[in-house]
Amino acid sequence: MAVRDVLTYPDPRLRLVSAPVEDIQTAQGVIQDLCDTMSASGHSVGIAAPQIGELLRIIVIDCSKHVKKSQGQLVLVNPEVVATEGTYSMREGCMSLPDYLGPVTRPRRIQVKAIDRHGQPFELQVSKFEAIVIQHEIDHLNGVLFIDRVASPRTELMRRSALMQRQAEGESETE
Ligand SMILES: [Zn+2]
Repeated sequence: MAVRDVLTYPDPRLRLVSAPVEDIQTAQGVIQDLCDTMSASGHSVGIAAPQIGELLRIIVIDCSKHVKKSQGQLVLVNPEVVATEGTYSMREGCMSLPDYLGPVTRPRRIQVKAIDRHGQPFELQVSKFEAIVIQHEIDHLNGVLFIDRVASPRTELMRRSALMQRQAEGESETE
């Protein structure tokens, strides 16, 4: 339907708690806009409704470019993590903080329940990259940004441009 503008930090709307979707039919436009906005970015692996200014508990992920056996594009409405296991650290970035990357540690494996875009409930077990992306996006629904989870922002947050520079000089990314 439409590619929407992505809100960037410090837009105060990124700090609000989103409301559960009560009627899946009324959410179809937002779901489609999330899919369109994510694919238009070219590199995004996930997006949450508040990032386009819609304070609803909807996330869309697509890790197929990063994970061999990924779940493909997934729409999760009212997602909830019901179980977690282990820990996993990854360098995270965000469309709402386009200039920064930083290491975050989260559970390695999660069980999530949600409803799909047709209103059907489902449960999913994912690990590592996909699990991290889902947790990052669910954080957005609660007004939490990845920079809140970087242990030492002053020393660990890194400019994306600096990382590109280092990669150009031969350092490989850890993801
Ligand atoms: Zn984000």
